[in-house]
Formats: sequence, structure tokens, C-alpha cells
Amino acid sequence: MAWKRIYICKQCGYETEVYEGKGLFGQHITPMTCPECHTVQNIVVGGVIGDVAPSYRTEAGRLCLRCGSDKIKVWNLHTCPKCGGEMKVTNEKEFWT
Ligand SMILES: [Zn+2]
Ligand SMILES: [Zn+2]
Repeated sequence: MAWKRIYICKQCGYETEVYEGKGLFGQHITPMTCPECHTVQNIVVGGVIGDVAPSYRTEAGRLCLRCGSDKIKVWNLHTCPKCGGEMKVTNEKEFWT
């Protein structure tokens, strides 16, 4: 079981989802920010896929799902990647993977 949280930026309205907990295959999803396309990307880490594809085992060396940048960093759950404003949780839901 996992949880999904919706974060919204009060300043520019940018919205992103964050997943907590582990999925069915032992994977977790790490939100990472991309400085190139200014988005939050949900990167799947570990689990069964990590056994077959070692590059999926950690957050290191992962690429932005949108633009392919290798400069993505683990998101701090606060700073809006678009405008640098403060993002807040607006909604929380149970989420099944
Ligand atoms: Zn913003
Ligand atoms: Zn990007």
C-alpha cells in the first residue's frame, strides 16, 4: 500500500504528485526535480525492476523522464521547480500500485 499526496504551488499553481510507501513489487517512487525543464519527476527506484536493471536501484545517475537531463536531484518537498515558491499538500489519498 502506498499514499499519494498532491502538492500545489501557491504562487504559480504548479501541481505534482508524491507517492509514499512501497509498491507491490517492493519499489518506491522518489520525487526528483529537474533544473532543465523545471518539473518534478516521479522516479521509480528498486523493487523487482532493480533486480533486472541495476541502474534502477538508486536515485543516482537517473534521467529526467521529460527531457532526459542527468542533473535531476531529490526534491525537498517544498520548493516549486517552476518559480521557487512554497508548495503545500492539498490532498492525500490511499494509492494502490
Ligand atoms: Zn510555483
Ligand atoms: Zn527535465
